[in-house]
Amino acid sequence: MYLVSNRDMLYRAQRGGYAVPAFNIHNLETVQVIAETAAEMQSPVIMAGTPGTFNYAGVDYLLEICQAAARRYKLPLALHLDHHQAIDDIQFKVQQGVRSVMVDGSHLPFVDNIALVQQTVAFCHRYDASVEAELGRLGGEEDDLMVEGADSFFTDPDAAIHFVERTGIDSLAVAIGSAHGLYSGEPKLDFIRLAAIQQRVSIPLVLHGASGIPEEMVKKAIACGICKVNVATELKIAFAEAIKSYFTQHPAENDPRKYIAPAKVAMKAVVADKIRICGSSGRL
Ligand SMILES: [Zn+2]
Repeated sequence: MYLVSNRDMLYRAQRGGYAVPAFNIHNLETVQVIAETAAEMQSPVIMAGTPGTFNYAGVDYLLEICQAAARRYKLPLALHLDHHQAIDDIQFKVQQGVRSVMVDGSHLPFVDNIALVQQTVAFCHRYDASVEAELGRLGGEEDDLMVEGADSFFTDPDAAIHFVERTGIDSLAVAIGSAHGLYSGEPKLDFIRLAAIQQRVSIPLVLHGASGIPEEMVKKAIACGICKVNVATELKIAFAEAIKSYFTQHPAENDPRKYIAPAKVAMKAVVADKIRICGSSGRL
């Protein structure tokens, strides 16, 4: 009942000069942490699941858990399909109740990417579901997808106009130097390219691979038109490190309620920090 598209959230963010954070979820506990923190900070949030996450947790479970979280906190919540590629898979999940979709055709030639996205938009808009698509290609590892540096390429600002007009998408994921997973060196974002895209394209822009990008760079990207900031890896690291350190101190523990508790606390600190950096606190 409370699961919404991200369209209004992102347009409000665009007008307000902030970004909505999209956090990758994996299970009940990660949803609990994000929903609780969002409610406390009165921030709009997007809960993102890759195809691997939906396979792992189950579409029905994730939908119900997110709906329960939305009801509990009276939070308009977008459960978002992150990096989905198969149209039949997207159609099924939208029919089940998802209203926020990213269709990733960035591995396809330009015309085929457009065709896939057009097909997705035609379907999703009938359900009032929002559609994000990517032009250019990020490097790094997302789910079971690995893109080598040589296969990644940046978004062309002129092609972006054409892509947005032809597809009718609601938001555009840009490739400007960010990468999925961990950065080996200092991340570099191409702000000149981002500004050129923002000048040409009126819809909200999306930054993937924001884990590990310094705060000032994320803020500058938001000032240049980024309205949705995706964070996955930093949450996973905080969660896992807390569990590892708990078991180092309590090697005999076997109660998940005990060893997961510090993981939730550690993840919550990252979620709160990203909400602060995005400037989305108090924007519900
Ligand atoms: Zn991504």
